[in-house]
Amino acid sequence: MSLRIVVCVKYVPDATGDRHFADDLTVDRDDVDGLLSELDEYAVEQALQIAEEADDAEVTVLTVGPEDAKDALRKALSMGADKAVHVEDDDLHGTDVMGTSLVLAKAIEKTGYDVVIAGMASTDGTMGVLPAILAERLGVPQVTLLSEVSIEDGVVKGRRDGDSASEQLEASLPAVVSVTDQSGEARYPSFKGIMAAKKKPVESLELDDLDIDADEVGLAGAWTAVDSAAERPARTAGTIVKDEGEGGKQLAEFLASQKFI
Ligand SMILES: Cc1cc2nc3c(=O)[nH]c(=O)nc-3n(C[C@H](O)[C@H](O)[C@H](O)COP(=O)(O)OP(=O)(O)OC[C@H]3O[C@@H](n4cnc5c(N)ncnc54)[C@H](O)[C@@H]3O)c2cc1C
Repeated sequence: MSLRIVVCVKYVPDATGDRHFADDLTVDRDDVDGLLSELDEYAVEQALQIAEEADDAEVTVLTVGPEDAKDALRKALSMGADKAVHVEDDDLHGTDVMGTSLVLAKAIEKTGYDVVIAGMASTDGTMGVLPAILAERLGVPQVTLLSEVSIEDGVVKGRRDGDSASEQLEASLPAVVSVTDQSGEARYPSFKGIMAAKKKPVESLELDDLDIDADEVGLAGAWTAVDSAAERPARTAGTIVKDEGEGGKQLAEFLASQKFI
């Protein structure tokens, strides 16, 4: 039977562009350029490598995000994933990690899976907790933050590197895995891959398709709330210390005034 791999990928605001909060203190996702979270490219890469090793496997990429999140799905499809699922619904506005994990869990159950692969963190929210919450919701083992991962005979194995030791972990499938940016360089989409991606299926789902009520997600269903947010102040001109014999002393005084020393 085919190994069913679902990869969770997030469409995030481009960190090199201007990013803003909307009036309701949610991240403005409509008026900014976005892209596939770079850390999720590693998850796609590991999924493709596992699929290449398996006799028979299918890689589905899944995102919860706005209309433009299709761009992230297309990128993953052009890297080599087989199909995509996009959950989009106006009621998702303001959904926090609890709501996002609920939507992902229901979409994964609907799609069918043997293993779910996620990134180590998104490049915007950077909480790094979603894979663990997802495993709990699905009721399956979690094997997170792996720098090396493989699947053989219904068992996922991997290495998690800590500061002073490395652990070898394994779990029987079905399971949720997350991989780090040390797991291996992500491939670039080839021209052939980009053309092929245009014809690959992208299934669109709404909350109704997943039997999720609007009040379980969105700002109403969120477990967290942002009380206030302010733009970072513009950078001021730096202090230039000219060395006219007293440069070292002035430098030390400046560092002391800034409490660096
Ligand atoms: C339209 C929209 C509006 C939102 N509004 C808010 C808001 O107002 N307040 C708020 O707190 N949160 C909001 N969120 C949710 C938030 O952006 C995160 O998706 C969620 O909180 C997970 O946190 P994180 O990104 O830090 O996840 P992490 O735990 O850092 O992510 C780890 C991994 O989980 C997977 N993942 C995370 N998010 C997604 C996703 N959306 N789709 C697929 N895979 C994913 C990726 O593989 C990622 O590498 C919104 C999301 C969407 C799509």
